[in-house]
Amino acid sequence: MPSTGPCAMRGADGGCCASDGRARVERLVLLRCGSCSNRTSRMFKGRSRDEGVREFPALAAYFEHSKLGGFLFDAGYSQAVRENGVVSAVYGLLNPVTMRPKDSIPLRLLRFGIDPAQVKGIVLSHAHPDHMGGASFFPDASIILSSEAAAAIERPSVRDLVFANMARALPRSRRALGPPVGHELLSRYFGAVFDVFGDGAAFAVSLEGHAVGQIGLYLPCQRVLLAADAAWGAEFLDLAGEMKLLPRLVQRDFDAYCATARSLARMKADHPEIDIVFSHDLFKEGPYAEDGQRDAVLSEISATTR
Ligand SMILES: [Zn+2]
Repeated sequence: MPSTGPCAMRGADGGCCASDGRARVERLVLLRCGSCSNRTSRMFKGRSRDEGVREFPALAAYFEHSKLGGFLFDAGYSQAVRENGVVSAVYGLLNPVTMRPKDSIPLRLLRFGIDPAQVKGIVLSHAHPDHMGGASFFPDASIILSSEAAAAIERPSVRDLVFANMARALPRSRRALGPPVGHELLSRYFGAVFDVFGDGAAFAVSLEGHAVGQIGLYLPCQRVLLAADAAWGAEFLDLAGEMKLLPRLVQRDFDAYCATARSLARMKADHPEIDIVFSHDLFKEGPYAEDGQRDAVLSEISATTR
C-alpha cells in the first residue's frame, strides 16, 4: 500500500478533491447521544471544587463516503447503560449519566435530516458503553473495529468496561481493521494506521492506553481527527499526568495513555490546521466545517465548565 500524504485528498485550490473522482468523505455531522457529568476536582489534582461540574457529552459522528454511503463513528449511549445489573449501578454512581429518549442516535440523526436507514456501518472507537450503546439500533450495519476491540466484545468483562448486554445486542456483521499501512503524516504520531475503506477516504489510528484496541478516525478532506477518549477533552490533553487515582484506574494502561496524549499534543503543535476532536469535548451538534460551524466548534471546545 503506498503511503498517503495529509493533503493527498485535496485539490490544487486547497479544497477537497471534489472533481477528480477519488473516494472521499463528503459530509461530517457531530451528534450528542447522552452525556455524563463529573467534577473536574474529582478527576485532576490541583482543581478547585468551585470549578463545578463538567458535562461530558457522548459523541457520535455521522459521515458520508462519496461511494459507499453513510457511516457512523461511534453511536453514543443507549438506555442499555442502565440495564446491566450491578455494573450499571456502579457505573452510574461514579459517572452520573443523562440519557433521555430524545438523545438516542436514531433521533439525533433525524434531527439533522438524516434517515437512520442510511447508516451502512459503524466505525467503533472502543467498546465502552458511551460509544457502543447506540449501535444496537442498526442491526444490519457492519461494525468496523480493531481486532483487539472485537476480541474484547466476544468476552465482555468489567475489567475492560464492556457491558455484556450491549455486547450481546451489537450487530453480528463485524470487520476487523488491518493490515496496517504507512502514512506520511499519521505514522509519525501513531503506532498503527489503517486505511478504513482501502481508498484513502478515512484512516483509523491506534490510540493506546485508554481501552483495549481503541482507535481514532482521521478524515483528510475535513482535516479532522476524531480522537475518542484519548483525553477527557481538549482542555485536559496536557493534564494526563495530573489525573487522580480513580480516573487513572479506569485507563487500561496509564503509561500508554500518557504517551498517546503526548503524541496528540505533538501533532497538534506540528499541525494546527488539523482539528482534534475528543468524544467528550463540548462540541456543538450539527454539520461540521459548514457555514462557520467549524469555528463554533472550536470556540465551544475552549469552554470547560458549566
Ligand atoms: Zn472510553
